[in-house]
Amino acid sequence: MAMRGGMIGLWLAAALWLPASLSVFAPARAAEPVVASDARLAGDGERTRLVVDLSRSVPLGAFTLADPYRVVIDIPDVVFALPPTAGQEGRGLVAAYRFGLFAPGKARIVMDVNAPVTIDKAFVLEPMDDQPARLVVDLVKTDRATFVSALKASSSQPHRAEVPEMPTAEQAQVGDMRPVIVIDPGHGGVDSGAVNPAFDVTEKQLVLTIARQLHDRLEASGRYRTLMTRTKDTYVSLGQRVRFARENNARLFISLHADSLGSRDGDVRGATIYTLSDRASDGEAQRLADSENKADMIAGLDLSEEPADVAGILFDLAQRETRNFSAHFARTLAGNVAGAARLHKSPLKSAGFKVLKAPDVPSVLFELGYLSSSKDLELMTSTEWQANVTEAMTVAIDAYFAAQKPHDAVPVALPAGVNGASARPVAATQPSPAAIRP
Ligand SMILES: [Zn+2]
Repeated sequence: MAMRGGMIGLWLAAALWLPASLSVFAPARAAEPVVASDARLAGDGERTRLVVDLSRSVPLGAFTLADPYRVVIDIPDVVFALPPTAGQEGRGLVAAYRFGLFAPGKARIVMDVNAPVTIDKAFVLEPMDDQPARLVVDLVKTDRATFVSALKASSSQPHRAEVPEMPTAEQAQVGDMRPVIVIDPGHGGVDSGAVNPAFDVTEKQLVLTIARQLHDRLEASGRYRTLMTRTKDTYVSLGQRVRFARENNARLFISLHADSLGSRDGDVRGATIYTLSDRASDGEAQRLADSENKADMIAGLDLSEEPADVAGILFDLAQRETRNFSAHFARTLAGNVAGAARLHKSPLKSAGFKVLKAPDVPSVLFELGYLSSSKDLELMTSTEWQANVTEAMTVAIDAYFAAQKPHDAVPVALPAGVNGASARPVAATQPSPAAIRP
């Protein structure tokens, strides 16, 4: 197996290792999900090994990414039954690692490495005696030139730049003129977002729970078509979220998040509503935008092929108008949510969030509170608070649309190619459009 090239793929058919005498059990075993029960790092700054215990053998693919240096391991759907703190502490060449669902049927482990590395070995050991199956990845320190030439050699490999397709929404019924609202639960899958390990709460789970409630409330009103960018614990890239809103002609895009400041600032509390701006309204907004914009890097995406923002007169005009709508909704939301949730001392802020960059869809990012604050955490995870906040959001959405005259309902429509937003064919040509509604 050639190890140069930064990418290797070992495809071991799981069925092959089953002894013939066990073959009667094969169908049942194949249906059981593979479980990762433990993971550990060993070694030093020259050579580091990751070992993951698995309930049975799986095929694996491994490759490296630059800027920042990362090693990505792709495996079929695996249930990660690892301790919540797994991967947070590094060793040797590995600064940290994370794991989760990357796409339907596909799991991913992403290691942040603190130096250019070569993947010396990557394989799965069959279970033996009392030992479970083990996924083993050996990394060896190298220099930047070797690392980059290996990347170039492997750039034609299909896995490297792959972004999983997200499901397309059901087409609107003919004559359905209701405004489309896209709810965007932040993070997902391999990208957990903020984490409070002490209470085993992740931002990705919390915002999905609240997004589902908001979705159900809005749908129950009958006044909107409500779509979600994800309905499961799976990864969706920032660009896909924006494209999803545009392709479905959303009239409003609401991204849900929960912030964290680590244990030192446990007193900072409250909800904040962010809109898009070129310059951050303050240092805190900049910090948050930098952190939220890292989602694709965290999930092991190659960022070198990101489309640049396209500017132009039409774009500027549309975006200015969209920003006015976004700001109006942000104020309406803050006014209504104030009664249900504690707001941050300055609750309206702005910064360069990638997920808010649809030039023709009014968009806000709602940080519900801080996972690092025990008081916020208690509230955000309570069903009463969740019911109050989603109700207040629904009232704000009603007020926002009620204030619009029919003729100014949609900001200047842009051709789909603007802002690099038409990388996908239109929804109608997608194979078997799957419902994204829960
Ligand atoms: Zn977030």
